[in-house]
Amino acid sequence: MKLRYYIQTFGCQMNAHDSERMAGMLEALGYSSTAEPAEADVLLMNTCAVRERPEHKLYTELGQLRLLKETKPDLIIGVAGCMAQREADNIRRRVPEVDILLGPRNIHHLPHLIRQAQRTSTRFAGENDGLDLDCDPTPITPVRRTSAVSAYVDVIFGCNFNCTYCAVPSARGREISRRPGEVLDEIRQLSDLGYREVTLLGQTVNAYGHDLGRLETGSRIDFAWLLEQIDAIAPNLRVRYTSPHPMYFNERLIDAIANTGSVCEHLHMPLQSGSNSCLSRMKRTYIIEKYKSIVERVRERIPNVAITTDCIVGFCGETEDEYQETVRAFQEIRFDNAFLFAYSPRHSTPAFDWPDDVPASEKNRRLVQLIDLQREISRDINLDQVGQTVEVLVEGRSAKDAARLSGRTRGNKLVNFAGDMDATPPGSLVNVRTTGGFLWGFSGDKIQTVAAPHAARTVIELVAA
Ligand code: SF4
Repeated sequence: MKLRYYIQTFGCQMNAHDSERMAGMLEALGYSSTAEPAEADVLLMNTCAVRERPEHKLYTELGQLRLLKETKPDLIIGVAGCMAQREADNIRRRVPEVDILLGPRNIHHLPHLIRQAQRTSTRFAGENDGLDLDCDPTPITPVRRTSAVSAYVDVIFGCNFNCTYCAVPSARGREISRRPGEVLDEIRQLSDLGYREVTLLGQTVNAYGHDLGRLETGSRIDFAWLLEQIDAIAPNLRVRYTSPHPMYFNERLIDAIANTGSVCEHLHMPLQSGSNSCLSRMKRTYIIEKYKSIVERVRERIPNVAITTDCIVGFCGETEDEYQETVRAFQEIRFDNAFLFAYSPRHSTPAFDWPDDVPASEKNRRLVQLIDLQREISRDINLDQVGQTVEVLVEGRSAKDAARLSGRTRGNKLVNFAGDMDATPPGSLVNVRTTGGFLWGFSGDKIQTVAAPHAARTVIELVAA
């Protein structure tokens, strides 16, 4: 009988890629995927601990799974990701039916833990855990990618910063860069397989290489060097990266981004607050003036660059004046888009012990006001770009109108346009003239196909990750 797996993913792109790796390992073990949890023999929840809501959702979902396990005792239930790492004791106590706990640094241990869980009758005594925070996360694993057009590539794991609100360092451990040869081999392979776009992943992706020393030639291995190497071996790929930290953003990196044709004109750089006193309490290690100077230089060197950000309102002790400094920063910088959040305390972070003293209603007011401001700015920026010709990587049919196609610009903006899926399948590059500007992106008309898709093969690749 064919064994099946089901994976539910919460959170960021790092988690999405970890789920692809887990799927690849399960398929290498002979499992096939199912969209129905009730059909699964292995059920994995890949979790996120950044915000409170996904955490609550996990316990609700696990409550459903324990019912499933009553009817299917051989079902293997695993919890992976940041919550598995941070909440191991609570998960064990609250849901003893969980068989496997797998932290983000231990993903490659999945096959071994599955076999162990199949053998052992002692459910969840801790022997099926992969929670070693000092574990080397870089071994080669198979990967089952969810897209035949765009691919994630891990370049650095963990985070050495200690932002006071952030749960990531306690879940993902210290930074470790993948060896450059492995990263470049993977990208060469993706290009040969017909992928059009890669997104380089790391909690602080531009810290890449600080732990790798120098090349034999004496040159430093850093993120700028990596972008130049990728551009040299796969100049036709679109290259994206997330997320850079302002502390590692220097002139050399701006040069590399500006001079490499493959690196897209999109910078997503978390701001988190526009107030220096708040940034200091957050331990973000930069001041707003430094952030703004990076934006200014990037805009000077990279025409048409789209700049997006993340920001938190209502952090511990945030006064109205500090909040207004954030509002002013948004008005001055004019981001193309922003992911905005109200602060919620996460345990085992320094700020967890501080008074969470901005009332919920006030956090909500600030959040709604900043969202409204950002929406107005996004709409205005996109309206200003109506009439331009943009290169669009086709993703498929539009979610809003099945008669139209959609894709993304190099600035990562959504474009819906009239087109024929047979003539312009996913993976095609087309030039589109924008005819309408909206909060979410553009409507437009196709002018011409720039490149047909490669015949991308969906195989399980062996990648170093
Ligand atoms: Fe968290 Fe700060 Fe590291 Fe980002 S840089 S992952 S916010 S500790």
